[in-house]
Amino acid sequence: MSRLAVRNPATGALITELPADDAVEVAAKSRLARAAQPAWARRPESERREYIVRFRAGIVDELEALAALMTRETGKPISMSRNELNGFLGRIDFFLAHTQAVTAVQTVFSDSGMQEQIEHLPLGVVANISAWNYPWFVGGNVFIPALLTGNAVLYKPSEFAAMTGLAMARLLHAAGVPGDVFAPLIGGGDVGAALLDQAIDGLFFTGSHATGVRIAQALGPRLVKLQLELGGKDATYVCEDADVPKAAGSLADGAMYNTGQSCCAVERIYVHASIHDAFVKAFVAAVSAFKVGDPMLESTCIGPLTRAAQLDVLDAQVADALARGATLLAGGHRLPGPGNWYQPTVFSNASHTMALMREETFGPLIGIQKVRGDEEAVALMNDSRYGLTAGVFTPDEARARQLLAQVSTGSVYWNCCDRVSPRLPWSGRGDSGLGLTLSTYGIQAFTRPKAWHLRQAW
Ligand code: NAD
Repeated sequence: MSRLAVRNPATGALITELPADDAVEVAAKSRLARAAQPAWARRPESERREYIVRFRAGIVDELEALAALMTRETGKPISMSRNELNGFLGRIDFFLAHTQAVTAVQTVFSDSGMQEQIEHLPLGVVANISAWNYPWFVGGNVFIPALLTGNAVLYKPSEFAAMTGLAMARLLHAAGVPGDVFAPLIGGGDVGAALLDQAIDGLFFTGSHATGVRIAQALGPRLVKLQLELGGKDATYVCEDADVPKAAGSLADGAMYNTGQSCCAVERIYVHASIHDAFVKAFVAAVSAFKVGDPMLESTCIGPLTRAAQLDVLDAQVADALARGATLLAGGHRLPGPGNWYQPTVFSNASHTMALMREETFGPLIGIQKVRGDEEAVALMNDSRYGLTAGVFTPDEARARQLLAQVSTGSVYWNCCDRVSPRLPWSGRGDSGLGLTLSTYGIQAFTRPKAWHLRQAW
């Protein structure tokens, strides 16, 4: 049996070697999931809900240990691991509260002769190939509503969050979800690729654009339902009437939270010329106040990068920005020693000739560009192949609404950033993806409607 080495990104030390799946095991788990799914779907919805309630209680019982596990394998600062787990409890609550209503049979027309109804059936066996940056959030956005609506789930956690993925499986099974109904698949891209060869009824992916395209190409000929939650290059515009200290503090947090490794991290900032210098000063001060260090420490704000390979991406974006005339205001280098460490890095005088303003960074690196007004800011925010989120800072709600209406992204933010709500659909435009999770639409996504035409009188 092959093994998956799990390393601590803060130190580079080997944590463990996990038994990994191969193509034969992936096929076997897939067959077992297929066989188990109909009985799971036949159970009353209330029974499936009960298992998820118990799963939630299991997380609450082990929250500290689960947070520490996630921090060890991903390098996420411990306070943020705790935040993710607590936030995940809220997402479970949302799904528990809404699934029954969303999946109830709807009578949409009825007269003396005819009745029309919509039934919501599970897709069947769904595959979930997931990312490491928020493993509970991005995994749970799929497997909680998928299980509640009667699907079996083949869950492939990222190889950089595999221990957390196994902990999810252990807690679900302990709560009563059968092992064949939720089956974890451990390994790297080869295990994900093997999953695509199975008889699946839906593929829900969170990860990079490059992998998403590969998956879409592989599944295209089979017309399998496909959802892709991909990367972003999320922009914010700070207007001349914005509260500069508040905007700078909020955006520094949005850019650097989870060491910049959020799909909706702030990755580009446009600032009106009249407040530009004051904003840049406040922003650099806010970033400089973030404590970089051991992610297990309560006081740490910025930890290591999860993936060592991303250090090269950051080096390349920094070199390109410098060569094209950006001004380095903070950081700009790797930190010495073992582990995957990069200084929090801020550039001003950035422009769209630079990879820093065009390609996903996914690390503690941000570019700031001066703009002369609203028209230029909107044009720059839309000058991206991605379309996940965008924001505006101004006290003027009408102006914010008017600006954000012109921006082509799945989510928009007024005076906030880097925010996801279980009550709102999470989706991207362009290269940020296909389909959505969360909200009641993100429950429906795991069902297929069956249309009933019922003639009562002949
Ligand atoms: P990744 O594409 O490298 O890996 C994602 C998953 O795909 C992993 O489980 C990996 O093992 C698997 N995989 C790799 N090659 C495969 C193949 N050929 N076939 C099938 N599966 C394969 O991405 P990552 O580094 O884990 O995640 C970071 C990316 O995820 C960033 O771009 C980030 O923006 C994005 N992301 C998006 C959202 C969102 O909601 N839009 C949320 C979180 C992360």
